[in-house]
Amino acid sequence: AMYRAKTARDRVARYRVEDDPHSRARLQTLEALRDALARGELVCHFQPKVTVADGATRSVEALVRWQHPTRGLLAPDTFLPLAEQTGLMRPLTLAVLDQTLRRLRAWRAQGRDLTVAVNLSVTNLLDTDLPGDVDRLLRTHDVPAAALVLEITESVLMADSRRAGSVVAALRALGVGLSIDDYGTGYSSLSYLQDLPVDELKLDRTFVARCTADPRSAAIVRSTVDLAHSLGLRLVAEGVEDTATLERLRAYGCDVAQGFLHSRPLPADELERWLDTHGARPAGPGRATAQVP
Ligand code: C2E
Ligand code: MG
Ligand code: MG
Ligand code: MG
Repeated sequence: AMYRAKTARDRVARYRVEDDPHSRARLQTLEALRDALARGELVCHFQPKVTVADGATRSVEALVRWQHPTRGLLAPDTFLPLAEQTGLMRPLTLAVLDQTLRRLRAWRAQGRDLTVAVNLSVTNLLDTDLPGDVDRLLRTHDVPAAALVLEITESVLMADSRRAGSVVAALRALGVGLSIDDYGTGYSSLSYLQDLPVDELKLDRTFVARCTADPRSAAIVRSTVDLAHSLGLRLVAEGVEDTATLERLRAYGCDVAQGFLHSRPLPADELERWLDTHGARPAGPGRATAQVP
């Protein structure tokens, strides 16, 4: 009855300021995310990128998680969109790079010849300060640029291709590796492949997952491997979940496989144990000998 007595305008005001749990939750999450960054609650897990030919792991991908004090370990899709919308993506990416390069330095000191891949978002690639930040962090942690790979998605390149293009060129000039993530899900694939100085294509897992069951997916995987190789690029298949898929990828000449078949993303200490036991050994049946790198 109280509500019915209100004017429409009152209801709009009440809706915005008090009654929208969504917007409230959003503000609370935003505050909490800012605090989480300051308190170091954002942690990276690492997933092996396994060389198909010899089963060796020469690279890992850093994937951010939020170790929330009460809600547990939160996946990136629960907080990255918010970070992107609220200006927190820059500090988040710098925190991920700082943490990852610190780990990489330690791993290299342990004699592990690894490179690490870090994901960039749309706003990162429109941030002309990013190349300078990356350069500074590489120096701080005394890691060679070639040991860092930056994964960028196709959507990034469509947002503002001139500006993103100049940021990409500046990153390239530092000597870091560049990878196109989720390849095949965007629109302008061929035009930017013509111009962009990248080293790697990561074929999206939607194509990979179906390649043993669906001849059309198989044709896409096979021809993307050929396209990558024709351009002098490495082809990584993401989302490899079973040995049948791995064997199919091997037959097509795919260079690197990443997915739950080999390992889920792991905390740094668990990744070290994984590398010690599986790191130089091929996954799946049919290969008796592993090449130790
Ligand atoms: P992505 O870069 O394409 O990362 C691969 C995602 O697929 C990861 O999800 C990984 O856990 C998952 N995955 C790996 N293997 C398999 C598999 O065999 N099957 C299936 N179903 N999934 C698999 P995650 O960690 O939830 O990350 C999701 C996305 O969030 C990433 O997709 C990336 O776009 C973004 N992201 C993660 N960490 C960062 C970061 O530090 N910065 C930025 N900007 N984005 C990040
Ligand atoms: Mg990625
Ligand atoms: Mg991906
Ligand atoms: Mg993906």
